[in-house]
Order: sequence, then structure tokens, then C-alpha cells
Amino acid sequence: MTETSAIISRPVASVADAKQIKAPTSARAILEIDLNALRANWAKLNEVAGEAECAGVVKADAYGLGLEEITAALAREGCKTFFAATIHEAQRVRAIAAGATIYVLDGLLADAEEQYAGFDLRPVLSSLPEIHDWATFCKSQGRRRPAALHVDTGMNRLGLPASEISALLGPDSPLQHFEVALVMSHLYNADVADGVDNPKQLAAFQTALDKLIDRDAGTRASLANSGGTFLGPDYHFDLVRPGIALYGGRAIENKPNPMQPVVRLRARILQVRTVNPGEIVGYGGTFQATTPTRIATIACGYADGFLRALSGDRKTLGPVGYIGEHPVRIVGRVSMDLITIDVSNVPEDLTKRGAWVEVMGARVTVDDLTDRAGTIGYELLSRLSNRVHRIYIEGRPA
Ligand SMILES: *Cc1c(COP(=O)(O)O)cnc(C)c1O
Repeated sequence: MTETSAIISRPVASVADAKQIKAPTSARAILEIDLNALRANWAKLNEVAGEAECAGVVKADAYGLGLEEITAALAREGCKTFFAATIHEAQRVRAIAAGATIYVLDGLLADAEEQYAGFDLRPVLSSLPEIHDWATFCKSQGRRRPAALHVDTGMNRLGLPASEISALLGPDSPLQHFEVALVMSHLYNADVADGVDNPKQLAAFQTALDKLIDRDAGTRASLANSGGTFLGPDYHFDLVRPGIALYGGRAIENKPNPMQPVVRLRARILQVRTVNPGEIVGYGGTFQATTPTRIATIACGYADGFLRALSGDRKTLGPVGYIGEHPVRIVGRVSMDLITIDVSNVPEDLTKRGAWVEVMGARVTVDDLTDRAGTIGYELLSRLSNRVHRIYIEGRPA
């Protein structure tokens, strides 16, 4: 293990260990997080990025997977630049990655300058007031601290509008008081590979760069998230900022996903019963048996992050899960703590109390589930609950 392992809050098991790990008897559901797959995904994105540096976006507790463990694993793979959304997330990244470059996507919160400086964090400055405040702070400290400038290229969410860039030019520019380490923007349609929006934003970004980039001062540029990284070298600039693809999610619609799945969610069977024809299962009675049906109730629900929208209804069964090699269907409503599944076709010795049912993983992916639920992998992952026991796996099989 490396020097970072001491501060990891949850132990990381090697693949060899993981095979032997007995889940704690208290664990009702387990989220396995495959750090080998995460690292392979970063390495792949780093390769796709070519000459550009590949950062890691670890906002929202690293998309729900655990900011500390994910940051440490990415750092071990060679990732040197991290993006967090909030000051507190960024401070947690700093505790793990002492020498890393860390950007805060929220920008500069009012009167919080010391919170950034004390942890050597770089605000992503998105407006003239933020830029002025950072300039004033750096001037008062007599130190040109680094920051990023976020320019808006059409998304109209965060970022400096093109019309305000002129306020940053000329001899009295506030930019002279700090180091503009990075100029960045964000694509709003990068998941659509052949859309017209991407080239439009690319052109707008180039226009902004022509005004703002000072190559002599080492200013770098960044436009691409995961989807953007797959749009080709025109979009790479100096740094790419993937998030979802690191975690195995689909970056581009309607294309095969080249990333390895990182998460696997399993839950224990609490009880099995036989439901007779005409009887119902679960809230709303949305599943009604037409033949004698063996129903297993498993210890995972929407409070664990398994979306209620994945419920079956009167007409349709829920998604597929697996008991070993046996596919099983979710039936009835997903409730807060429980899911019901039809195990009629599974040998009884595999459906005893305490047996595991996989509800998400390589066979039923995050994207399979979210397509069905009408949402996106980002939401499912970032809502995975800390109630689920987590196991981190890393290292080579013995
Ligand atoms: C979240 C975010 C990213 C990462 O996006 P993915 O689509 O998850 O790759 C990159 N840049 C910014 C500004 C973001 O907010």
C-alpha cells in the first residue's frame, strides 16, 4: 500500500482478499467499488486525451463512490489535478492528495478567500465580482495566487459572458494581481456526438482564449468533460475533465460505452414466500400473481439509492437482477428499505435467507437502470446511500 492508505477511511481489499472477504453479518446490502476498473478508466481517458493532461472530477463525494478512496486511487494511477464542486470537498481532496492541483467549481464564495488559500485551492472564477475579490485578496497578500477563469460559451449557467471579457483586458486588468492558471468552459451537449452545439461552443471558446490566454505566463485551457474527451483532439486543449466516464458511466448517447463498470450493488434476501394466484405484492398491489410465485424480499430500497422509478407496475415487471447466474425480475414497487423479486425459477438452495441478489453491476449497468428510470447515471450514482456497506477492491488477483 502507498503512503495515502493510512488516511483512507475505509479499508481497501485486494482482489485476492475480496474473494475471501466475508461480508460482515450486519451488512444487509453491499456496494463493491472496483478501484482497478476506476484506474483503468482513468488510464484509458488519459490515453484518449493524448498530449492533454487528464484530471479527475470528484465532486459530490466522487459521484457517490467515496471522495477519499477515489481520490487516493486516481492519485496512485497518476492523476495530478482534481475538480471538486465545493470548498469542503476540495479540502477533503487536499487531505488525501497533498501535492495535487485542486480546483473548486463553485468559484469564490463571498468572504471565503482564506478557505481557499489555507488549503492551496484554486477557485474557478465565473464572474467579474469573483475576479475582483480574488484580485483584491491576492494584492493584499502580496501574492499572485492561482485561479481558473470560467468563460461562458452558451450554456448560460456559470461563467463569464463573452461581453464582459473586455473588462479584463488593458493595463488596469484585475488579472495582473493573480495567476490565471487555467481558462475553461463547459460543454452542454457533449453527450451528443454529432450535435451542432459542440462546434459552436468550441468556436466561442477559441474566441475567448485568443483574448485571455497568455502562453508566456503558462495559462492553460480546458473545455472537455467525459463526452468532450471523446469528441477528438480539437476539444482536448491542455486539460480534460472527465467525471462520469471514470465511474463507468456512459459519456456519449447511442454509442457503445468503452468504460469498465466500477460499481456492483448486492442485497441479502430477508425472506422468501409463495404467493398464490390472485394475491398481490407490495405497496399499491401493483404486482398480482397469476401462478404460484416465489417472492424474495431483499434488503435494499430507495433509501439505499435504488430508484423508486425502477418499480414494476401492473403491466410491467421491474428490471433484472441476478442470483449467481440466474436472472430474476423485480416485481411490485421499490419501497424505502425493500425490493421484492420473483425467484420462482431459481433453485431453492440459492434463495435461502441471507443469500445475495445482485441488482446493479456488469450485467445490469447503471445506464441500463437509469435509461429505464428516465434519469441519468450521474443521478443514480451520486444518490447511492452511505447506509450501504462499501467494499473497495484494488490490486491484482493472486
Ligand atoms: C461535472 C463537471 C465535469 C465532469 O463532467 P462529466 O460529464 O461527468 O464528465 C467537468 N466540468 C465541469 C465544469 C463540471 O461541472
